[in-house]
Amino acid sequence: MAEMKNHCPICDYKGVFNNFRDRKEVRCPECGSLERHRAFYFTYKNEFLNTKKTLTLLHFAPEKCFVDLIYKNENINYIPVDIDCQRYKYVQNIKKMDATSIDIADNTIDVLIANHLLEHIPDDIKAIKEFHRVLKNNGKAYISIPLNKDLDETFEDDTIVTEEERLLFFGQKDHVRSYGKDFPKRLESVDFTVKHLNVERNLFVCQKTNT
Ligand SMILES: [Zn+2]
Repeated sequence: MAEMKNHCPICDYKGVFNNFRDRKEVRCPECGSLERHRAFYFTYKNEFLNTKKTLTLLHFAPEKCFVDLIYKNENINYIPVDIDCQRYKYVQNIKKMDATSIDIADNTIDVLIANHLLEHIPDDIKAIKEFHRVLKNNGKAYISIPLNKDLDETFEDDTIVTEEERLLFFGQKDHVRSYGKDFPKRLESVDFTVKHLNVERNLFVCQKTNT
């Protein structure tokens, strides 16, 4: 019998979590959630998951644990997207979408989710501008990234291109930079109002506020 060791608040799994990369017992075997997903779940629940108003939600790199929940709420007009749809076979109706060139009209999205996406995108500011453009006034983007608290300034170098070098300098073979403590400035540079919602897991909420 499984030991009652861990509990996943997202899918209510009780038992032992699986290992993920170098971390022991962190991944829920039922819904695939990691520590950050379980932390963000409570925020999402308070902010939009239980909405009784109709809202349009654009979700980049949609995580299985959230997809299942979002589909359950019929008030959410859900648009799951990614640049590489092959990786998301568990998502019905996933659309191919480049975050730096979003094929959606201005001012149409209420909520946007992009977890651990921007560190993979060479022109991240262009993506952040696109997020701002597609959001309605007062719409919110929930953005998280790996943040290196030892860095005051974000480190990027476009001569670092091989997987080995990226692993060494940026911590993962498909990351193109290491964000430092100045990350919120990138969000503010496109006129978002930014709040650091979860400091431990580096979740930021960016609100579009027209003057
Ligand atoms: Zn779970």
